Amino acid sequence: MPASIPSAPHRLFVVLGDQLDYQRFLPADFDPKTDLFWMAEASEESTHVRSNKHRIVCFLAAMRHFRNHLNDGQIPLLYHELDKGESSLSGLLGQDLKQLKPRLVSVVKPGDYRVEEALRKTVEEHRAKWEVREDEHFLCTQAEFEEHAQGRKSLRMEFFYREMRRKHDVLMDGKDPVGGAWNFDKENRESFGKQGPPPSPMVRGCSPDALTQEVIDLVNQRFPDHPGDLRQFIWPVTPQQAEDALTQFIEECLPCFGRFQDAMWTDEYTLFHSLLGSPINLRLLDPRKVIEAAEQAYLQGSAPLPAVEGFIRQILGWREYVRGIYHLRMPEYREMNFLEADQPLPEFFWTGETDMVCMKSCLKQVLDTGYGHHIQRLMVIGLYSLLHGVRPGEINDWFLANYVDAVDWVTTPNVVGMSQFADGGIMASKPYSATGAYIDRMSNYCKKCRFQPKESTGPDACPFTTLYWDFLDRHRKRLGGNQRLAMQMRNLVRLSEEKLAEIRKGADSLRRPS
Ligand code: SF4
Repeated sequence: MPASIPSAPHRLFVVLGDQLDYQRFLPADFDPKTDLFWMAEASEESTHVRSNKHRIVCFLAAMRHFRNHLNDGQIPLLYHELDKGESSLSGLLGQDLKQLKPRLVSVVKPGDYRVEEALRKTVEEHRAKWEVREDEHFLCTQAEFEEHAQGRKSLRMEFFYREMRRKHDVLMDGKDPVGGAWNFDKENRESFGKQGPPPSPMVRGCSPDALTQEVIDLVNQRFPDHPGDLRQFIWPVTPQQAEDALTQFIEECLPCFGRFQDAMWTDEYTLFHSLLGSPINLRLLDPRKVIEAAEQAYLQGSAPLPAVEGFIRQILGWREYVRGIYHLRMPEYREMNFLEADQPLPEFFWTGETDMVCMKSCLKQVLDTGYGHHIQRLMVIGLYSLLHGVRPGEINDWFLANYVDAVDWVTTPNVVGMSQFADGGIMASKPYSATGAYIDRMSNYCKKCRFQPKESTGPDACPFTTLYWDFLDRHRKRLGGNQRLAMQMRNLVRLSEEKLAEIRKGADSLRRPS
């Protein structure tokens, strides 16, 4: 039996779909007689970018499990299920504020600036007090990040990460990093070679329970035109499922994770990657627990240091860093376009129908499953978008829509900044640009492709390679002074005018296919 709802609550505590923190949701001063939790499944959150069905199910199923947890604990909760009236979060909240007239509406710092602004305006319109609380899920507070950023000409994740290692005493040997180095990436860049990947765990993920199956049916019926094939849904939507996924990763995948973290192989979707981004971002899994489990694996000798350090860097370093940048730089960050990229997102991003085997493979995978690992995101899909010159806002929305772990604070710095270099170097010191030869080295995609990764012109030219040279050529002035691109720019100068003219023509026809 759910708890009864106070008819005139003093305070409303909003819980958003990615704030399902079973450990920390209850404020110390919560009074069930006068306070009320508020949650809503707003369809606009699935349609403002055309979200993948897997992503929608992750959010809704996790929210409904969390709702049941609150009901079981007799915590007063007002919960709106999908499609019962208003479609927007702010519209639903506005209706309730009109009726309930609470004095205060409180929310943990939202991970989407758009949502925070919409809710704040609604609350102010209804003359209630608006309170944003610190998000204790993260290890670094916003004030700490601002302190780190203050006075620095440029921010680099590496320095932030070292500070976090010291502060939280992770992989430390006194004042020094364990193993004598902060970073072992040189040992983390292996490809699979001709023989292909070693056997990876066959069964990954969780089976949907009855409640999740109900949500799967609802999403199939309510969002039939959205991408995603829900016949296989593997994502954790409860803390227990998330913990099971963590255990499987630590035991079966972490030992090989580092070596092969940048490698790709046709029809091998998950390889040794963690699949933990979604449950961590939903708050079902505490990042401290994830870091501790990985560190223990190293201390007990069941996983090598380069793998453990590389994985911990993602959670303790990169994840905290991108969140800090997001809140520091929004709202202007989302609009940045340093390279003045002006191309629309090619239609094949929504179908996967292209002759480029690498793109087809990575796109179809994410459209069907809502998942792709980081190198498929950065060095195939993101790289193509960068070289093609897609408008950063469009590719950012595409990433936000399609990945199960996508929330605006995650995708915007990773896509606008890291992958598209649209922030002019806030996130990364140079654009991640490469020819098809990189993809050839790290995967078997090119073996099955009609294009030749080394060719930049002619009928067999690899689109990545053509667009790479064209990219450097178009941005000679903007990027010519970047020391980290010096070698690439020197190679550009070696191309003859005739060759460059052919490359430009090829790139134009890729951008405007007849
Ligand atoms: Fe991709 Fe080019 Fe390789 Fe084809 S040849 S798979 S387009 S990198």
